[in-house]
Amino acid sequence: MTKKVDVVVIGAGPGGMTAALYASRANLSVVMIDRGIYGGQMNNTATIENYPGYSSILGPDLGEKMYAGATQFGAEYEYGNVTGIEDLGATKIVHTDDGDYETKAVILATGAEHRKVGIPGEEEYAGRGVSYCAVCDGAFFKDRDLVVIGGGDSAIEEGLYLTQLAKSVTVIHRRDQLRAQKIIQKRAFANDKMHFIWNGLVQSVEGDGKEVTGVTYKDKFSGEETTIPAAGVFIYVGIKPMTDAFAGLGVLDEHGWVITNDKMETSVPGIFAIGDVRQTSLRQITTAVGDGGLAGQGVFNYIQSLG
Ligand code: FAD
Repeated sequence: MTKKVDVVVIGAGPGGMTAALYASRANLSVVMIDRGIYGGQMNNTATIENYPGYSSILGPDLGEKMYAGATQFGAEYEYGNVTGIEDLGATKIVHTDDGDYETKAVILATGAEHRKVGIPGEEEYAGRGVSYCAVCDGAFFKDRDLVVIGGGDSAIEEGLYLTQLAKSVTVIHRRDQLRAQKIIQKRAFANDKMHFIWNGLVQSVEGDGKEVTGVTYKDKFSGEETTIPAAGVFIYVGIKPMTDAFAGLGVLDEHGWVITNDKMETSVPGIFAIGDVRQTSLRQITTAVGDGGLAGQGVFNYIQSLG
C-alpha cells in the first residue's frame, strides 16, 4: 500500500527531527522514516557540551527532548529502511522495505556512519570487545585497559569518557599529533589515565576466540610491531555518508556526500538534504539542526510554489 503525505523526511536524527518540526508547524503532513530509533548518532554519543541551552546533556536524552518537540505539531515517526527515490516531478515516490510513500517533497537526513579500519579481528570481535560507541559499551569495561584508535574529536572525546570507567585508555594514532580541537587535547593530555602511541599503524585486533585481548600496531618509521594488552578497542577513524539509496538521483559528489545550495536544495526540485549527509565543512548537532530549520521552511515554500 502506498501512503500519501506532503513531506517525507528520511532519517530522524537531529536534522530530520528539526525539519519535521518546522514543516509540520507550517501545517504540512510529515513522516520521518528511520531504520533505527529516532535520535540518530546522538544515541551513540556520551556527553554533549556544545549544544546551546545545555551546559552538558547525554546524547540519548537530547534525542528524547528533540523527538517530543518534533512530533508536537503532528509529524510522525515510522520505522523503515529507505531503498530508493523516484522523481516524477511534482510527485516523488519513496521506496522502503515495507512499502512506498507518495509525497511532494523529500528531505534527505540520513547522516553518516563510522568507518571501519578493515584490520583482521575487527569484524570477528565486533561486539566482543570491538566497539564504535563508548557510551553504549564503555560500562562493560570497568577497570579494564582499553585502546582507542584515531586522533580526531570523536576519538579523544570518547576516550575521555572511557577514562571514567576504564583503568587506562591508550590512544593509537597514525600521526605524530592529534586532529582534535585544542581544548579537548588539553583535557586529554591532563588526564592521568590517557596514554598516547604516536605514528602507530594498527595491524590487527587480537583475541582468544571469545573476546579481545589486545591490539597489534606497527611503528610507521621503524616497522617494529608491538601488541598491547586490552580488553576493548574503540574505533573512531572517520565517517562515511549514508547515501546508497540516493545514488541514482544525480545529487552526490564523488565521495557520496549530497551537494546542496545554502537553502538545502539539491539539484532535483523538491529534494532537500540536511545535516551530516551533506557536503559541508562541519558535522555537528547544531549544524544539522540549523540545516533542518532551513529545509523545513524550504519544503513549505516549494510546495506553495507547486500551486
Ligand atoms: P544522524 O544523526 O546521523 O541521523 C541519521 C539517521 O538516518 C539515523 O537515525 C539513521 O538510522 C537514519 N538512516 C540512514 N540511512 C537510512 C535509510 N536508508 N533509511 C532510513 N533511515 C536511514 N555532535 C555535536 O554537536 N556534539 C558532540 O559532542 C558530538 N559528539 C559525537 C560523538 C559521537 C561518538 C558521534 C558518533 C557523533 C557525535 N556528534 C556530536 C555528531 C552528531 O551526532 C552528528 O553531527 C549529528 O547527529 C548529525 O545529525 P543528522 O541528523 O545529520 O544525522
